[in-house]
Amino acid sequence: MTIFEKIIGREIPAKIVFEDDDVIAFHDVDPKAPVHVLIVPKRVIPRLAEAEEADAPLLGKLIWTATKVARELGVAESGYRVVINSGPDAGESVPHLHVHLLGKRSLSWPPG
Ligand code: AMP
Repeated sequence: MTIFEKIIGREIPAKIVFEDDDVIAFHDVDPKAPVHVLIVPKRVIPRLAEAEEADAPLLGKLIWTATKVARELGVAESGYRVVINSGPDAGESVPHLHVHLLGKRSLSWPPG
């Protein structure tokens, strides 16, 4: 069971900002920006590289949730970045698909 499944199951605490039947969004425990929220599907897909065509609506919902959370947390106008790390070269550390939403500071490009 991944750490995110434990958060979904309320076995460990998290600062939840949004939840419905399909997704949960909570503040990252080790934030890389003043706003750093993770948007996680409740159904486990290990990583983007393992998503299937049938997952497309859920993938869309993750991005739509990022849009809503960004508005809620006041970064829609100032700007924000949405990141998915898939696999070792991207630095993925939790094998449960998640979208990072980062904002409230200027973000450099390209990422490291
Ligand atoms: P990634 O490296 O893309 O797999 O991202 C995993 C993220 O999960 C990292 O940014 C971690 O800081 C974050 N993280 C790990 N454990 C927790 C936790 N218990 N609560 C919130 N965020 C976590």
